[in-house]
Amino acid sequence: MSEEQQRSVLSYDPADEYRPEPLPPPEIPAWKNGSIRIGIHTSIAGDIVRALDLAHGLGANALQIFSSSPRMWERGDSRISDVDAKRFRERRRELCLGPLVVHDSYLINLASPNPVLRTRSVQAFHHEIIRAISLGADYLVAHPGSARDGTREAAVAAIVQGLRQATRGLKLGQLRILLENTAGHGASVGSRFEELKAILDGCPELPLGICIDTAHLFASGLDIRKPGGLDGTLAAIDESLGLDRVPVIHVNDSKTALGSRVDRHEHIGKGRIGLAAFRAILNHPMLAGKAFIAETPIDRPGDDRRNVATLWKLVAKTVVATGRDGMKPRRSRNKGSTGRKRSRGSSEKARR
Ligand SMILES: [Zn+2]
Ligand SMILES: [Zn+2]
Repeated sequence: MSEEQQRSVLSYDPADEYRPEPLPPPEIPAWKNGSIRIGIHTSIAGDIVRALDLAHGLGANALQIFSSSPRMWERGDSRISDVDAKRFRERRRELCLGPLVVHDSYLINLASPNPVLRTRSVQAFHHEIIRAISLGADYLVAHPGSARDGTREAAVAAIVQGLRQATRGLKLGQLRILLENTAGHGASVGSRFEELKAILDGCPELPLGICIDTAHLFASGLDIRKPGGLDGTLAAIDESLGLDRVPVIHVNDSKTALGSRVDRHEHIGKGRIGLAAFRAILNHPMLAGKAFIAETPIDRPGDDRRNVATLWKLVAKTVVATGRDGMKPRRSRNKGSTGRKRSRGSSEKARR
């Protein structure tokens, strides 16, 4: 080949320009098919994959879990092994469960004025995020924190900074962190929507959203029993936070009275909120497309199955639970009182 020929062979042809293949559109998980999502908090005791089968067996199509013990500070390596995480994601796909919500540890307080507790909390929350990502979770629900003896403003600022520190260096992917409204016990932040809004506004770069808990709304003084009260509350949430930032509703009835500021969950329809209100909540047009997840107590075997069935009934669907009740009631230390709780239980006090 002469030099001239060679040059002509090597000459630039725009058709030869390298054009990368267009990326395939992100795969939409099968559970995102527009159907109503009803879930329940299930136990990961023994084997984390079992939580999926438990939820499925109870008739739920969504679920919430803790990714580690919610009442113990992590010791050593808190990561979930790659093998377990893979098994979990595969089984979840098979059972078509979603969304998957992970609830953070009760011990975490990003607002703690105690520097040791705060540092521990930031580290623990960092690990919560890593575990949630490895499980392929859609949402990580977090209680904002407690101001203790500090001011609300300082607490909100500490939470904003804590969220930034805990997410540093992590690629969250599809995971969103949802701040949960609280009953307003003691110095807990987040019973007022403005406080949640201040946190959202404080870190616009983070994928944050909100989880609304019905028992906490009620205990904080919002009367969602009457249609007007429910409409007004939803309008207030929409105005201050935006309902489009609320993908998950914790559906819990309340043992405690309106405005008690005490957080005690009750079976759906058996508490102070009542069945009619839950029918209105589950069918409210402003809540269409939200996932409804129960964190109801287990007082008797079968309570979880009954609560899931009640929720389906309220949306006029019959779903047959195929599994056995996998979780035993927690033994009461204080018979006849509210002490009969399982770990996901219901109280936020005295842990911070
Ligand atoms: Zn909740
Ligand atoms: Zn609660």
